[in-house]
Amino acid sequence: MIVCGTGSRRNAVAVISGVGVSSGRAVGPVVRMPDPVAEPAAEARLADGADVAAESARIAAAAEQVRADLEHRATTAHGEGSAVLEATALMAADPTLVTAAQKKVDDGTAPARAVWEAAAEVQAMLESLGGYMAERARDVADVRDRIVAVLDGRPAPGVPDRDEPFVLVAHDLAPADTATLDPSTCLALVTEGGGPTSHTAILARALGLPAVVAAPGVLDLADGAVVLVDGALGTIEPNPSADTVAQVQALANREWTFDGTGRTADGHRVQLLANVGDPKGAAAAAEAGAEGVGLFRTEFCFLDRAEEPTVDEQVEQYRAVLEPFAGKKVVVRTLDAGADKPLPFLTDATEANPALGVRGYRTAVRHSEVLDHQLEAIARAATTSGTEVWVMAPMVSTAGEAADFVERAHAHGLATAGVMVEVPALALTADALMSAVAFASLGTNDLTQYTMAADRLLGDLAALNDAWQPAALRLVHLTAEAGVQAGRPVGVCGEAAADPALAVVLAGLGVTSLSMTARAIAEVATTLLSVTRDECVRLAELALSAPDARAARAAVHAQLPPLT
Ligand code: PEP
Ligand code: MG
Repeated sequence: MIVCGTGSRRNAVAVISGVGVSSGRAVGPVVRMPDPVAEPAAEARLADGADVAAESARIAAAAEQVRADLEHRATTAHGEGSAVLEATALMAADPTLVTAAQKKVDDGTAPARAVWEAAAEVQAMLESLGGYMAERARDVADVRDRIVAVLDGRPAPGVPDRDEPFVLVAHDLAPADTATLDPSTCLALVTEGGGPTSHTAILARALGLPAVVAAPGVLDLADGAVVLVDGALGTIEPNPSADTVAQVQALANREWTFDGTGRTADGHRVQLLANVGDPKGAAAAAEAGAEGVGLFRTEFCFLDRAEEPTVDEQVEQYRAVLEPFAGKKVVVRTLDAGADKPLPFLTDATEANPALGVRGYRTAVRHSEVLDHQLEAIARAATTSGTEVWVMAPMVSTAGEAADFVERAHAHGLATAGVMVEVPALALTADALMSAVAFASLGTNDLTQYTMAADRLLGDLAALNDAWQPAALRLVHLTAEAGVQAGRPVGVCGEAAADPALAVVLAGLGVTSLSMTARAIAEVATTLLSVTRDECVRLAELALSAPDARAARAAVHAQLPPLT
């Protein structure tokens, strides 16, 4: 149940500002992520006269408690979360770790330290076996942390398990934390760290949860304090009024629908497409009614590979992504290896500054055969799929590079070839670019990072690294206008497309399609339908002339008609 303040009795607690990364509003009580479990001191020994057998028994009892808790949670969790919890419960039931830790207690080591050291030995052993066993080393660390938390009488690490809905407040979320996050009880995500493209942000958008990152001071909110999270404005308002709560709940109960044709109120077409990373994501996107795929991040299929995948393996993956979109468009991006997505067979892990290094299309200079193999695989998958396959290269910097890529794609029989515009230099020369390509797709995540000279992975720079920045929007405008002049479609496939208000601005700037996480499509479609093309243009002008991202966002939100 949500308790809220009323009128003048409300406490005047300041609104906290961060960066909104997943739109929507939610109200609920704060639940804070427990602090991560710290390594117990290396010199931690049993106290003089301690009962060694009893201390040893505490370890077995703690492990049993962890196993039982994980098994219980596995029965209530869904899908991948349940599988993660079951695997961890199995690890907790394995006596190897407990026996090794108990031996150390017999030698006088304190129980928590003994578990820590024993876990390190078990991890090293698993890692030496390689393959599947090496991957289990991560589960050992998770079980270790849980046992140590029980021994110390502290809450279990990871996302708290609650029956009542809550707003999760954390420093940042790791992939392992988020696998067990249940969107039916977690209303919103708020983090002190992280940036617009951090794992938390990507997960929030995939789950359709409102989220604010890089919000200093949120960790000072008390557990149970009721807050209003506005993922579009990037604010966290403690103790919201009863009216606000009622409004938010009415909106939350609304079902968003998409009739399969993205357009404004006066019928101006903007295709609404999905971003996918693998066959499972493609199936989900087709189910959500996406008009096609605007970005297939092929590197996501091969992130764990030490060696280049064979052409046959690639064909298999690509076919499975194309299949659900027979008769529709799928834009396949060639491997965007490097920076935040290293692929060992393509990228150099020793580069000092990988975001400015040999990433994306640039890897073709050293490894041109990898690009040729991939184009061959895409072409083979395309022939039997009945899907309209477009192909594009990431991290292209000049119109000349774009022309070279297009020529190569054509040589493999891929007729519709284009590039991503994510380097400011390419946006600035968009008129020259358009004569070389069949289409362009704006990668606003990287375009913003390179325009603002702000690392997209750094939470401290999140306010700069915001696609609402007028400077980045001007480059979007320049590119879209060049596309209109040349009669070439120009889409957006960065995370910006999933923000309903920004989607309206992007349509006003002239982009012809928006590609986003499938979950965002219905809300973006509804927002677009609430405005005419002329209103999109007017709102885009407001954003372009704002002094910074925060002002641009606020100006547009103030003018957008409410969707309730
Ligand atoms: C982008 O940069 O906006 C983009 C879509 O590519 P990625 O996020 O995969 O770098
Ligand atoms: Mg990119």
